[in-house]
Amino acid sequence: MTDAHDTTTIAWAEPGSTVLAPKERLALALRRGQTLTITDLEGQQVMDFIASMVSDPDERLSAMFTRVSSGKWDLNEGYTIYSDRCRPMFRVVRDDNGIHNMTGGYCSKYSNSIRYGVEETWGCLDNLVGDWRELGLDETKINPDQCISLFMNIIHHADGRMEIVEPTTKAGDCIVLEALDDLYVGLSNCPEEHNPCNAFHVTPMQVTVA
Ligand SMILES: [Zn+2]
Repeated sequence: MTDAHDTTTIAWAEPGSTVLAPKERLALALRRGQTLTITDLEGQQVMDFIASMVSDPDERLSAMFTRVSSGKWDLNEGYTIYSDRCRPMFRVVRDDNGIHNMTGGYCSKYSNSIRYGVEETWGCLDNLVGDWRELGLDETKINPDQCISLFMNIIHHADGRMEIVEPTTKAGDCIVLEALDDLYVGLSNCPEEHNPCNAFHVTPMQVTVA
């Protein structure tokens, strides 16, 4: 268990919608049975998210175990997102687009530095660190396997190359996730502008808890 992790002071998410401006973040504590809807308001925008179990935040979402369980690179309706202890965390109730980056990882100043030669850019990692701090969690334990990049479109070529291309979401497309346990969730409206992941134009996203 995480040291002195006090669940009595958790501010549980209330039902309602929030519009995240471009590059903004949102931290949530979800009760089992609540649903989380991520809506791409204008289309072609990525939302990175991480999650941990409230019962033990050291049990994290795992993109790898989720891929292994589904035998697929993408999520789809009916699929389950698993933790790194292979316990169910979310069920995909609805998925209008069906294309997500399940390789793990998030944009950061580090990856932008080696890929694009730019320094000190604001990335999803900065947002996710802010989310974890707001929730009182240890941000040093965030790891790349813990992250799914919703609507991010990566082509896995037959010759082994990976290529980031523009998302195919249209305005209003959403994914709906049902929490299968009490969960901490960190969301980052992806700020990346150095590759096609947000079609070079970052836009708002809506987050709805029900
Ligand atoms: Zn990002």
